[in-house]
Amino acid sequence: MSYKEVLEQTSKDIHMELPNNAEITRIEFEGPEVAVYSRNPRVLVDDETIVKGLAKKLRKRIVIRSDPEVRLPKDETIYVITELVGKEGEITTIDFDELVGEVIIEALKPGVIIGKSGEMLRTIISKTLWRPNVMRTPPIESRVIKTVRHLYQEHSKKRQEILKTIGKRIHRPIIYRDDTIRVTALGGYAEVGRSCSLIQTGESKVLVDCGINVGSNSPNNTFPRFDLPEFDIDNLDAVVISHAHLDHSGFVPYLFKYGYKGAVYATKPTRDLMTMLQIDYLDVAHKEGKTLPYEQKDIRESVLHTIVLNYGEVTDISPDIRLTFHNAGHIVGSTIPHLHIGEGIYNIAFAQDIKFARSNLLDPANCRFPRLETLFIESTYGKPQDILPPRAECEKMLRNIVNDTIKKNGKVLIPVLAVGRAQEILVVLENLMKTKEIPTIPIYTDGMIREASAITTAHPEFLSKNLRERIFHAGQNPFLSEQMKHVASNEERELIVQGDPAIIVATSGMLNGGPSVQYFKELCSDPNNALVFVSYQGKGTMGSKVQKGITEIQMMENRKTVMYHIEMQVHSISGFTGHSDRRELENFIRKVTPKPERVIVFHGEESKANKFASWVYKTTKRESMAPPNGTTIRLR
Ligand SMILES: [Zn+2]
Repeated sequence: MSYKEVLEQTSKDIHMELPNNAEITRIEFEGPEVAVYSRNPRVLVDDETIVKGLAKKLRKRIVIRSDPEVRLPKDETIYVITELVGKEGEITTIDFDELVGEVIIEALKPGVIIGKSGEMLRTIISKTLWRPNVMRTPPIESRVIKTVRHLYQEHSKKRQEILKTIGKRIHRPIIYRDDTIRVTALGGYAEVGRSCSLIQTGESKVLVDCGINVGSNSPNNTFPRFDLPEFDIDNLDAVVISHAHLDHSGFVPYLFKYGYKGAVYATKPTRDLMTMLQIDYLDVAHKEGKTLPYEQKDIRESVLHTIVLNYGEVTDISPDIRLTFHNAGHIVGSTIPHLHIGEGIYNIAFAQDIKFARSNLLDPANCRFPRLETLFIESTYGKPQDILPPRAECEKMLRNIVNDTIKKNGKVLIPVLAVGRAQEILVVLENLMKTKEIPTIPIYTDGMIREASAITTAHPEFLSKNLRERIFHAGQNPFLSEQMKHVASNEERELIVQGDPAIIVATSGMLNGGPSVQYFKELCSDPNNALVFVSYQGKGTMGSKVQKGITEIQMMENRKTVMYHIEMQVHSISGFTGHSDRRELENFIRKVTPKPERVIVFHGEESKANKFASWVYKTTKRESMAPPNGTTIRLR
């Protein structure tokens, strides 16, 4: 069967299932979805069961669009929507995408526009015959979200073409009936950084993650092993990104530079955050005079090829692979990608960067899958000794440090990674102030933290139940609290350093550049100040030297080396990590259902990955291994 025949067959099925008065004019594959254009979409909207039944029968995602001729004129549509929603929804803008017949409504309260079980949406469709695409106006303005939305609107036509090409590839007929499944370790095996796995079935090839090892100084260890013969960019079907950190997403634009034309699957927060981090990566690399592996325009291409999915949404990504994202509890939007291969012959889950415990920001990682034969699992804290103190204890430690420092009229500097740890720490601090465990003093955020927090709050549906309820119901967005202030200029930094007691949360997390270094230089010689490390300090970084207790350090200042004496108090609180410690990893293995036949341990230093793999074997008697990069394993 050719692609044309597949489309014809699908069209035939749809015509058979849908009532005649729906007046279908056109049917198209748009990425993983089937778009049905109708001159009378009201009948399909009014009776939802018709479309649901069809989707179930075809096992495809169906989207109903109106034929351009029957849509209400734009000005009337705006009038109708404003009348219907009233002031309550707090609409900020209404835009149109004529190509697909979408009215894009940005509102502060998207829930009102959706209505109870989507009732308002259906009313809007049936009155205007435009399909509402409701977006949340970010409560904190986000430059990245604005850019991404603008990009989609400006390139609507191109995006349509892209989706059609992707749709064609996904729905191509299966040629080879070969049931072997192989995985090749391209990066992030027996190491942390440049995560990348290639899954090959008889029919398709999929990459799971495509990262950069940002801490590496040698190009040979920085990027995934695309030099291996198993990798062939021209035959790649899909790229799946588990979460936004650069060691999982940083190399995606490179694929587009070298001709990849397929989709990138990610959650919405991941798409926005990885775009932010990739732009920043280019910026920093450029300033450091490094050769850039890709350019801004490749990031743009990557965004235009991204298809966003929610947790639990089952989607075809190739003729024989279905993808579902599950919560990973690691950072906002982070996932455990689950691949369902060949109508259920094989199932794989990638538990990389998981937090199997509740945090302030997120619910614990999901450990229940419909089916599971091979489980991949991280081992960042895979040694038996890698047991971290409980969260409550860490919060107490932080509380005491802040109180002691304020008493001495000092300042607290917390270097953090912009995405993840920063937001977690800010919520902890805000809580401590709310419960009056620490005095209410300014919390200054510097670097990309504000943008990352803006993206985080723009997607509250991905946050923990507690936090989501605070943002939705009580209007108590912790990132909008009064004491949180964003710093943007050197003048402000100067004032903060000379001013009253304050907490400064700044990037980078390992004192290897960024505003945290600037503050450190100003604050380090005063014993009344405190420095608190809340994340892992990579080997050789300035952070790790300071953490180990050196008292003098040389740094560049206006092209001269200056000696700094470190007198400030240096503390480390390890339990705020977004990774599971050894105990949580063991719990995950014990609790995961169904029990996998095989466990592959990755994302950890060689000795940690090996130690954890042998524990898994001893405890579960299932096959387990911790292969190095370059290995190909036949799973089936
Ligand atoms: Zn991560």
